[in-house]
Amino acid sequence: MLLDILKEKKCFKLILGAGNEDVDEVEKLVTLYSKAGCNFFDLCPKQEIIDAAKRGIKNSFVKEKKYLCISLGTKNDPHFTKVKINNKLCKNCGKCLEICPQRAISKGKTGCVINKTKCIGCQRCIKVCGENCIKILNNKNDTREILSSIKLSDIDCIELHSIGASEKEVFEKWDVINTTYKGILSICADRTKLGDEFLKERIKKMLSKRPDFSTVIQADGAPMSGGKDDFKTTLQAVATAEIIQNENFPAYLILSGGTNSKSTELAKLCNVSVNGIAIGSYARKIVKEYIEKEDFLKDEKTFSKALSIAKNLVETSIKNIL
Ligand code: SF4
Ligand code: SF4
Repeated sequence: MLLDILKEKKCFKLILGAGNEDVDEVEKLVTLYSKAGCNFFDLCPKQEIIDAAKRGIKNSFVKEKKYLCISLGTKNDPHFTKVKINNKLCKNCGKCLEICPQRAISKGKTGCVINKTKCIGCQRCIKVCGENCIKILNNKNDTREILSSIKLSDIDCIELHSIGASEKEVFEKWDVINTTYKGILSICADRTKLGDEFLKERIKKMLSKRPDFSTVIQADGAPMSGGKDDFKTTLQAVATAEIIQNENFPAYLILSGGTNSKSTELAKLCNVSVNGIAIGSYARKIVKEYIEKEDFLKDEKTFSKALSIAKNLVETSIKNIL
């Protein structure tokens, strides 16, 4: 059971991207990381993506049970947004194209074009565009509608990103999820917008609606940061986890957001005890060049090179938690 790997501190969650609708990429990444020892996958809340993840698990031919989670968010959460380029303003300079971690941007005749299926809303392109021509598009965000569009029996956990400042919106969504789904829930907790005290209060209130130890708190540092593989990048995640740890909430704690190969090492050095780790951008980036190959799943040599990289990340991360 999912709760067992959390209790045993063996949880490694691969974040595929709450806005990542690229079916092929999801299938390839899940196949690879499932074989590498990852036991938990965080997905965009779409049935075709859940199906792709299930195929990936099957492809990996491993006996251990793997668990699936979908992520839901509040309005304006970047994880759930896409972007759009105004071609009237675009100078086709290519800066956005170079920085995009998803290779979701390509050059068109009249300016750059976004592949919305691949875009994960990280907004790095917006930061480099000197012409101010990339705008954020909000995705459809009706929790009931999303939950009714997927087979809930296919998933093991639902996560709510609660970084938005609106208490009303967060608790409306939390109540819908709580009443619709009886499995494990996860709170993605980010203190950057809320401040420490407000964050703790919010978590306390969210947990009050749940049985003890049926919830995961994901301490989010710097989500989708794309930073270097060092302590600095992961510092926020460990700092957020420490604040949550000190509250002794009746829940499981995992690191996330700006996480990398150093995260659990830093947590250990700081005496922050977690039940697992979730890694997204970094875990995807280190195998990107292999995953992008059309025949990735058939080319044994390419697959085994990527597998050794993924395995090293999973094993090192877990080793430092235990
Ligand atoms: S960075 Fe801006 S101006 Fe340059 S190609 Fe991208 S959208 Fe166009
Ligand atoms: S840089 Fe981020 S927000 Fe921009 S297109 Fe790529 S994935 Fe989407």
